[in-house]
Amino acid sequence: MADKEFFGHIIDNEEVESLNGERFDVFNPWTREVWAEAAEGSAEDARRAVVSARKAFDDGPWPKMGRTERANWIHKLADKMEEKVDELAGYDAKNMSKPFEQAKHDVARSVWNFRFFADHQRDHCGEVYPMDSGHHCYSEFGPAGVVAAISPWNFPLMMASWKIAPAIAWGNTCIIKPSEDTPASVTHLGRLAAEVGFPPGVLNVLNGHGAPAGSSLTADWDVDRVTFTGSSQTGKMVMKSAADHLAPVSLELGGKGANVVFADADLDNAVYWAVESIFRNAGQICLAGSRLFVEDKIYDEFMKRFVAKAEELKIGDPLVAGTRFSALSSRKHFEKVAGYVHQIEELGGKIWTGGVADDGSWLVKPTIADGLALDAAPYCEEIFGPVCIVNKFSTEAEAVHMANDTRYGLNAMIFTENLSRAHRVASALKAGTVWVNCFFIRDLRTPFGGVGDSGVGREGGNFSREFFTEPKAVVMQIDRTIKG
Ligand code: NAD
Repeated sequence: MADKEFFGHIIDNEEVESLNGERFDVFNPWTREVWAEAAEGSAEDARRAVVSARKAFDDGPWPKMGRTERANWIHKLADKMEEKVDELAGYDAKNMSKPFEQAKHDVARSVWNFRFFADHQRDHCGEVYPMDSGHHCYSEFGPAGVVAAISPWNFPLMMASWKIAPAIAWGNTCIIKPSEDTPASVTHLGRLAAEVGFPPGVLNVLNGHGAPAGSSLTADWDVDRVTFTGSSQTGKMVMKSAADHLAPVSLELGGKGANVVFADADLDNAVYWAVESIFRNAGQICLAGSRLFVEDKIYDEFMKRFVAKAEELKIGDPLVAGTRFSALSSRKHFEKVAGYVHQIEELGGKIWTGGVADDGSWLVKPTIADGLALDAAPYCEEIFGPVCIVNKFSTEAEAVHMANDTRYGLNAMIFTENLSRAHRVASALKAGTVWVNCFFIRDLRTPFGGVGDSGVGREGGNFSREFFTEPKAVVMQIDRTIKG
């Protein structure tokens, strides 16, 4: 045991064991070895973390601090993350088999999440409305209180930072519960916040499984906001639990992204993004282009190029330079994805390339398939792995209809050189984000979230401000001669 790393809870800036001393194993999915242990949070540990955050909010300096001072603290944490980029990226790489270079990119985006919200809360603190009635009115955005943030394993640090950054920037205190599959980088982030001198209780990390650790947080009456990213199924449970104490929820859930390639597209660009959108992070991206629609006129040419590019991806150890694709994040997830690939074969679909590795690893190779019915489970359900199901279309209306025929609505992509079509189709697609001739680019001022089973609410810029604050209107009489 002595050679294994340990990830405790971070409560009041101290790294602690669970009250009952329980731990769980942390795996390296590439080697399938246990390399660390983490504290298994119980309901009592969750309560302990909430009490710490509550006290820090009610009695501590954080919510009352000037906005510039708070921004400076958050930038200090971002500076520290930049200093520790290899350490943080190494944890995500080892913990979920994310290629190291991609993990470094995630750290950079996490740093940006902190820097962006630090400045945004400083610069967007309210609006003034001079009124015709002789009154002067302004809005004020005060912190909401204690935020429970629950994050998934696919972008361990980046998803957590997307929640923590706006929560603390707006003056709240926060408890983050990372996924039980990937406790490492987020726990380390908690250590770094303590190291730079954050007031105790502003950022607590609670490790452990969905139940009881996560479910105890969402049910706690001292929690004022619940921000959750994860599966649609869990999101529904989280919403029900938070409803008992009327805590507003923000849910960023699953997806089954449509990628629509028209015959007039720049094919090299479309193929590049088709590969990136479904095989980056081994397809474990809520925004993955998992349903690909290609106009019939270019279908054969597109498939030839798409398959060739997918087969070029260097598969291997995530910690070795040059690796672009690696194992799935856990045995359980591997079994789920492999099950869908076997189902494609059983249902008569054609697998152009890829399939399940049969060497005992947790690897599903970049897989491209077509020939499935539009009600087949692998086509309709979120696989959350490197499996792209392709279909042909012949008209724009047919493409839009097929793309929208899903209970999800997180994102979509369009590849076309026709500007009018790009606008028309972007507007018609049922999705929170539409990318035209690109993928994964974000401006953090814009809304992010999904439609239908993909979520509730939007985050980003002022959308996050709405969620993480209690907006208030203050009306002041300027002209005393006016009554009523
Ligand atoms: P998951 O729902 O299994 O778990 C997510 C988190 O919820 C984990 O921390 C887990 O421990 C916790 N949890 C589980 N049960 C809980 C409960 N009853 N109460 C409170 N917390 C509970 O999801 P996952 O497998 O970790 O992540 C994959 C899913 O996340 C996919 O569906 C993916 O599309 C989605 N996702 C969405 C976005 C987005 O922005 N929309 C981003 C990334 C991932």
